[in-house]
Amino acid sequence: MTKKKFTKDFTLQEPINDEAIEKALSILKSGKIHRYNVDPGQKGEAALLEEEFAKYMGKKYCLACASCGSAMYLALKSAGVKSGDRVLCNAYTLAPVPGAIENTGAAIELVDIIDDYTIDLDDLAKKAAASDTKWFMLSHMRGHITNMDRVMEICSTHGLVLIEDCAHTMGATWDKKKSGGFGTAACFSTQTYKHMNSGEGGLLVTDDADLIARAIIFSGSYMLYERHTSRPGMAVFEDLKTRVPNYSCRMDNLRAAILRPQLAILDAQCKRWNKRYRVLEQGLKKIEGITCPKRDPRENYVGSSIQFSLLDQNEETIRNFLTTCMDQGVELKWFGNKEPVGFTSAYSSWKYFGNLPDLVNTKRILATMCDMRIPLTFTESDCNLILEILKDVAKATLE
Ligand SMILES: *Cc1c(COP(=O)(O)O)cnc(C)c1O
Repeated sequence: MTKKKFTKDFTLQEPINDEAIEKALSILKSGKIHRYNVDPGQKGEAALLEEEFAKYMGKKYCLACASCGSAMYLALKSAGVKSGDRVLCNAYTLAPVPGAIENTGAAIELVDIIDDYTIDLDDLAKKAAASDTKWFMLSHMRGHITNMDRVMEICSTHGLVLIEDCAHTMGATWDKKKSGGFGTAACFSTQTYKHMNSGEGGLLVTDDADLIARAIIFSGSYMLYERHTSRPGMAVFEDLKTRVPNYSCRMDNLRAAILRPQLAILDAQCKRWNKRYRVLEQGLKKIEGITCPKRDPRENYVGSSIQFSLLDQNEETIRNFLTTCMDQGVELKWFGNKEPVGFTSAYSSWKYFGNLPDLVNTKRILATMCDMRIPLTFTESDCNLILEILKDVAKATLE
């Protein structure tokens, strides 16, 4: 019997649409790529994107940044995180998140996770109560959203300031409220593998006038903050302008021009992702040896990637499963690798923080967790072929 083979590329996103390309061309032809390089009274593409994304999110203010990592750093700094502070953060997240925390000079207080890959809210409540911790960076890693009602309860009981990392939840909701609408600030990524693609880019949203004014000045506004249109009155800036340094992490008009047409179709794209996700999830649930996490019905996620666990399998078996899948063209990532590779990360590799706690559950859960991208270039029948391969490989390799 010849082995089935999948031949499409797991990192291939859809092309940038024609409308976005036309806009990008007009920006290139104008030569006015820097966000502040606009005619008097004219709104640049970056400013327009900020207005439109704030509106989409139902938030007062938005700042476009160079990346989600820089947006998170600016959000933490602008909220008031100081060197030596402690920031709570779920231990299952991606490297730019601890990186943003480290960049503020704060220490990280890692919080365990539970079997559905979301943060352990009991551990969060315990750590929030026990320490003098005031800050909480919640990363909705790979789009898994925890019980936000309980998160908000814990935050209000313990006076925690919540910053949301929504790199994988742009377009998602918890109980009909947009992910990113819960925290004092929320950060989104427009890096190629997220839900809108400008190569690199980040968006910060908030309702807090002081926070956004700081973030705008931090981002490198060269005292041109008047040209931002998603901002509070100029008086808020007066007081801050010589007290907040310039960290130069702006977005340019070219990226913003590419993103605006994508924002207009974001919700439709999310539906397309979920169609593919549902096909994969249904199929995966029928494969012996593969376990999908339970998802709360209030969680309306965006299935741009899918995760599953190979419960009770040892490292050697999992490695064999992964390489056999790869041989047949199905590229999976594995969170159990001791060495940090590609876009996966285990918290044990963030040694720059010094001593990190032994989180038994996080380690156990990541040890068997696999991860697969679902680019929109895959059709539903591609998803079915992937499932057939996973079924064959699971049968041949899992114990
Ligand atoms: C991609 C990602 C980020 C950071 O995004 P960049 O724009 O690359 O800085 C943050 N958090 C998570 C969970 C991510 O996947």
